Amino acid sequence: MNSRDWFDRAQAVMPGGVNSPVRAFKAVGGVPPFITSASGAYLTTVEGDRLIDFISSWGAIVYGHADPDIVRVISTAAANGTSFGAPSPGEVEIAELIAALVPSIEVVRLVNSGTEATMSAARLARGATGRDVIVKFEGCYHGHADAFLVQAGSGGATFGEPNSPGVPAGTVSTTRVVAFNDMAAVADALSPGDVAAIIVEPVAGNMGVIPPREGFLEHLRSLCDEHGTLLIFDEVMTGFRVARGGAQELYGITPDLTCLGKIVAGGVAAAAYGGRADLMRLISPDGRVYQAGTLAGNPLAVAAGLATLRRIQADDSLYDDLERRGAHLQSRLERALVEADIRGCVQRVGAMLTLFFGVDRVEDWSDASRLDSETFARYFRAALDGGVMLPPSAYEAMFLTASHTDDIIDQAADVLVAAIHRAAS
Ligand SMILES: *Cc1c(COP(=O)(O)O)cnc(C)c1O
Repeated sequence: MNSRDWFDRAQAVMPGGVNSPVRAFKAVGGVPPFITSASGAYLTTVEGDRLIDFISSWGAIVYGHADPDIVRVISTAAANGTSFGAPSPGEVEIAELIAALVPSIEVVRLVNSGTEATMSAARLARGATGRDVIVKFEGCYHGHADAFLVQAGSGGATFGEPNSPGVPAGTVSTTRVVAFNDMAAVADALSPGDVAAIIVEPVAGNMGVIPPREGFLEHLRSLCDEHGTLLIFDEVMTGFRVARGGAQELYGITPDLTCLGKIVAGGVAAAAYGGRADLMRLISPDGRVYQAGTLAGNPLAVAAGLATLRRIQADDSLYDDLERRGAHLQSRLERALVEADIRGCVQRVGAMLTLFFGVDRVEDWSDASRLDSETFARYFRAALDGGVMLPPSAYEAMFLTASHTDDIIDQAADVLVAAIHRAAS
């Protein structure tokens, strides 16, 4: 059976044939290749094709797929029982390691997904402050909990409207949405003094890569201090990716709470939230803010996460290599845009990178919403024809891993440069 056959069967029994919407290729057209295995920087499809992978499980993979060391610890853990529902030593070791690596985290709780981490952090912030309003930024994604599924308003501070049926208007009436990188709008949003927390992707990655403007994160920190509002960094994507200690280390800003996911569990399903001890002690059973999980801290996820984080801790070259290779890929793509005489720009922080067509610079959602998604779709399909798997949406980041060697980056760049020329014509 080929991918088309699998996709037909999948669509009969699953919404869109997938378990997460963007996998269905709606934005780029065609049939998503069905994957049977992955190794290093490569995916293998049911047709037997090998694709250079830049989805990297949406950033969850940092040492390449099926890394032998990580596979070994997962196998050992599986043989010793996949879930106890009782405390185990590995949970303590990974909590200590997370606290050692992430500057602002003193106490941490493991959960099963990034969605759970942000949802729980918001509950904690509301419980700690006795306030209800959460400020989020237009175009930032914090998982699919009701409170965060809010349509962006038109500039300035505004109360959100749900952008999914099924989300009660009452739920999102306490979510206030402002433009990313807009310092004045955040100040306005906080001025009533009713905001429990600001939640932000310190480097926006879910509307394409948008770095924070100079001084933006500092501004958030000082506004929060001024108004008794908590600062939550959603580092589900940026944690252990843009630097060992995440964006908070890279930019030198200390949030009150941090959400982690993706890399923290080494490609297995788990996530975490943590931060200041006095806040985290409000979580049950130390405190009264309730949050629990049947499979939270399960030995498979803990083993994979621990192996990954230990390796990151000891790895002196990882972030330098990712930076150098990311910069090289960026410069090749930028040169191709010029040569093909096609409007676009490449934005990157470390190992996360987006090529935006049709715009010269993207600083917020209103810039991102002007990008040229048809040219992107042509570029995407040309890349796939050439054996390179990009994230199948113009609003996503590409992720490099340690397995993307200089040679692989150059091979991929050859394909992507040709794809830019094809998309242009
Ligand atoms: C992926 C992501 C999430 C959601 O994590 P899930 O594990 O998919 O629930 C939340 N926030 C950010 C910034 C993310 O990139």
